[in-house]
Amino acid sequence: MIKKLSLIFGSKSKAQEILLLLQNAKTVVRHGFTDQELPRIERFCKEQDLHLVKSNFKVLFADEGVYSNKGLRIAEDDPRPGMYFVYISKDEQKAWLASYYEMMQNHQDLGLVLGYPKCCVDFFCKNFNSQNTNLELNSMNPYTNLSKREQDLVILSHFPCNAECQESVKLGEKYLQAIYMVDKERARELLTQLRVK
Ligand SMILES: [Zn+2]
Repeated sequence: MIKKLSLIFGSKSKAQEILLLLQNAKTVVRHGFTDQELPRIERFCKEQDLHLVKSNFKVLFADEGVYSNKGLRIAEDDPRPGMYFVYISKDEQKAWLASYYEMMQNHQDLGLVLGYPKCCVDFFCKNFNSQNTNLELNSMNPYTNLSKREQDLVILSHFPCNAECQESVKLGEKYLQAIYMVDKERARELLTQLRVK
């Protein structure tokens, strides 16, 4: 299931988020996509009755994707290759809100509308700046372990404020449960791979 969706969305982690959205485990998801990827994603969302809002700016490719906000913003018509941020939700208003908060660089409300725990949103707002863009903490807890996100193995899409952050662990458990319902193999892969550094 996840594998099939990943052909549309470009990675298993992105496909996983869409699955969580379809299962009502998440209300809005945010991801970066290129011009080339967008048409098939727009088609999928239309078929599934999901609302998609696209940022009115692009981010240069140096960006590390969804976790980091350090990417340099460029105009839509800038010829340099970049990614659009895309906000997808069953609730049109929430997709627009996320897009608006991001445009305004309002990390606080963006984090909350994306469903991140308040403690982690506060942690992000307090510690994130242009010199400190990677807030990843060491974690041996599979639910909060972000160390393999470049290998497409990750459960959360935010920086937990603590490796044992209760709210994050709770969210991670809920997501894994939802993934397990439709793709047992992926759920097992995540759990076993994320137990180790
Ligand atoms: Zn937290």
